[in-house]
Amino acid sequence: MPNSSLKHILTVEQFSADFISTILNEAAAHQKNVQAKGGSKKLDSFVSTNLFYEPSTRTSSSFAAAMYRLGGQVIGINDVAYSSVAKGETLEDTIRTLEQYSDVIVLRHPDKGAAALAASVSSVPIINAGDGTGEHPTQALLDLYTIMQEQGKIDGLTITMVGDLKHGRTVHSLSKLLNHYKVTLQFVSTEDLSMPEDVCQKLTNPMTRFTDLTSALPTSDVVYMTRIQKERFKDLDEYHAHKDDYVLSENLMRLVKKTGTIMHPLPRLNEIEQEVDNDPRAAYFRQVQYGLYVRMALLAHVLNGGER
Ligand code: ASP
Repeated sequence: MPNSSLKHILTVEQFSADFISTILNEAAAHQKNVQAKGGSKKLDSFVSTNLFYEPSTRTSSSFAAAMYRLGGQVIGINDVAYSSVAKGETLEDTIRTLEQYSDVIVLRHPDKGAAALAASVSSVPIINAGDGTGEHPTQALLDLYTIMQEQGKIDGLTITMVGDLKHGRTVHSLSKLLNHYKVTLQFVSTEDLSMPEDVCQKLTNPMTRFTDLTSALPTSDVVYMTRIQKERFKDLDEYHAHKDDYVLSENLMRLVKKTGTIMHPLPRLNEIEQEVDNDPRAAYFRQVQYGLYVRMALLAHVLNGGER
């Protein structure tokens, strides 16, 4: 029987306004703590498992770093090719095994809905670290924290999401999470890679669609660039036709407000020129750091702050 009192993190749709503000406040406290003394011992004696069926650099290592900086330990299965998954073990049996060793499982999987399936058989909290083209709820929280840090507020901003909005799980989660605020959304994509209808139907903020990046930049407070998701294309020629759809160049940065913020969930391929990295508005590597604090807050939350 699934244990409904467990604090799984599966979708942004489960987050209340209270939960969001608690996590953002806790993240700020963890930031201070890490910067002052490296972390705390809050999760001393807790063990997490990172179970990643898809590649990851930031999500897996920030969840590991978050656990270590809270005094906990991590079992890292960062390439399931070297686990019994390669022998054909089901996701359910893998979860039933890893829950015997760990207090929380951070799962990335190529199938939409995989985190919910894992949660349905798990006796420990499951954190969705990306389920295919579905969601990436912890990224959306760190994106929110980044916007807060960089812009000092969220209400009233114009937030522009650019690129592969069809397959990009980060923009699916972030656009829905922004329902808790009053913002204006601008979606820039080619028609065939536009934000899915099922996501749009859930959005409460006004949104405008663009196919041209230059038209959307001057009104943007936040420009959230995304990678064309190569791994989601059945036809690689189609991917190649799209891979340079939108490129934020130093030249285009002239159209962005002086107070603007450039974000990207990373990895970045061609969509932001390296020259832009030196611009103070380029916040994507600070965004990486903020992810650590948000994930510390999330781990402490699902593990009841270390209370057994
Ligand atoms: N790292 C993000 C994700 O896992 C974005 C990306 O891969 O493009 O969804």
